Amino acid sequence: MTRVSDPSLFVRPELRALGAYHLDLSPSRHKLDQNEVPWDLPRRLKEEMAARLLAADWARYPDFHADELRRDLGRLHGHPFEGVLVGNGSNELLSVALTALVAPGAEVLGAEPSFGLYRSFVLKTAGVPSFLPPRPDLRIPIEELEAEVERNPRRPLLLCTPNNPTGDALPVEQVERLLERLEAPLLLDNAYGEFCRYDYRPLLARYPHLVLFRTFSKAWSLAGMRLGYLLADPRLVTELIKVKLPYNLGHASVIAGRVALEAEEEAKRRVRLIVARRPQWEAMLREEGFEVFPSEANFLLARTSPPENAKEIQRRLEGQGIRVRDVSGYPGLAGCLRVSVGTGASLRAVRSALRGEPARPARAGTSPAPTKIAARTGHVERTTGETRIRLKLDLDGGARRIQVPNGFFAHMLTALATHAGFGIDLEAEGDTHVDLHHTVEDVGIALGEALASALGERRGIVRFAHAYAPLDEALARSVIDLSGRGTFHYAAPPDVAAGWVTAEFPLTLVADFFQAFADRGRLTLHLDILAARNGHHAAEAAFKAAALALRQAVARRGGASEVPSTKGTLSA
Ligand code: PMP
Repeated sequence: MTRVSDPSLFVRPELRALGAYHLDLSPSRHKLDQNEVPWDLPRRLKEEMAARLLAADWARYPDFHADELRRDLGRLHGHPFEGVLVGNGSNELLSVALTALVAPGAEVLGAEPSFGLYRSFVLKTAGVPSFLPPRPDLRIPIEELEAEVERNPRRPLLLCTPNNPTGDALPVEQVERLLERLEAPLLLDNAYGEFCRYDYRPLLARYPHLVLFRTFSKAWSLAGMRLGYLLADPRLVTELIKVKLPYNLGHASVIAGRVALEAEEEAKRRVRLIVARRPQWEAMLREEGFEVFPSEANFLLARTSPPENAKEIQRRLEGQGIRVRDVSGYPGLAGCLRVSVGTGASLRAVRSALRGEPARPARAGTSPAPTKIAARTGHVERTTGETRIRLKLDLDGGARRIQVPNGFFAHMLTALATHAGFGIDLEAEGDTHVDLHHTVEDVGIALGEALASALGERRGIVRFAHAYAPLDEALARSVIDLSGRGTFHYAAPPDVAAGWVTAEFPLTLVADFFQAFADRGRLTLHLDILAARNGHHAAEAAFKAAALALRQAVARRGGASEVPSTKGTLSA
């Protein structure tokens, strides 16, 4: 009979007192709770990674410190490779740096609210968190921090900018002022640095006590591979290397990181898409009654009032397949939710869930009411700050002229019009130097409005239709009801859903297009990509299936002039 009753009692009491980090990781249709980007890496990059992993010798240990990856990162940032350290996510490196830099019982200066793990990282190293309380405006308390550094410049300072979960970021000069006064390391967590207008990297050359933490988990779409790095003075990194475990990275994450870096343009494109979408999400959340804090990251902090509503809203969204982070328990954040900036489809899903109604169009812009030229013709001119569109649609056929600023999109619209049997005259211009999504969505809106206009009261039409369209291995199904209500359902195999059709065109944009089309065309559209090995085939099959079903649904029922509904109306 053992004399030990509960072995967990052997654990250091201050560690037993730590809260467990817990998150619901079950699948979610709109996953907006972990500040990831919504798009997986392009499949060809994943295939390249898989091929290199196959070619590696798995029986052998990897390089001690993944020097090749360190060299790649050094080149990317113009920093000596000896001053780069890589690890299993920036989490590991934060923990390594704190272990190396904080003596037992020593204070670490910081500020609340911030990344939830900092407190436990400091406690694990037997340090003492000395975190300033939240300011009422939730900005990083720079004056208070400066005063603290002035009072005692010898404490390591742990700061997150852009700050998770508020999105606030310190201008470079303010970080520099802290560095000027500090006589201890500044651990600057820059996990969201790629989305931020301030670049702290040039400070590294002048301030040897600056340590900058970065990650592959956000802009680089590699959260699932666990990869992060720090940039610091090479003399400091030489010491940190002794603290981290040897071989801390396996072949898989090193290869993933190196291939991702070779495709730097892909990451930049994802960042541009997110940064361009951020103000749309901000505006939507404001319109739905939240106070939204300015963000330099790929997420937004939104506060509801009264604060008790936050939990209820989070549960309501969860019930609609939308997962956001309830941060209302963080210091100073009563009533707050944190929402990742996602795709346009996620934005519309969140908006309609918040309104407790099916998705409604609410895009800012001067979209004049569509003018009806004839019973089966729609004419739309639409100008916003981002796009200018002119569209004539004839449901009964005619010439097809499509001018849009992207070859692939033009190809898809041509397929749509051809297989639906529509005549179309479309000219669209947009801010494609930012990215394509405004233009693609706004063409979807214009096409929907033109369809609704052409259908008029929706008399004498077939109304319900479905079609399958294959493209080699890809298969898409479209089911349509010209119901008068804008509803869109979409599904795609997980391994292509977050992938790319072309280097400029994520498959999620196809869904965004049809969502906008269904909203404004006031139709129910179920679009399911049932099989596909690549985004291009998936997209083309989807457009064709939608076209074939549309052709049938808008067809006239010979001689009929009534509205095909038991209610006698379809214009709701
Ligand atoms: N720092 C901050 C501020 C974060 O938000 C996160 C992840 N959410 C991390 C670090 C950890 O990132 P990684 O995946 O690189 O461990």
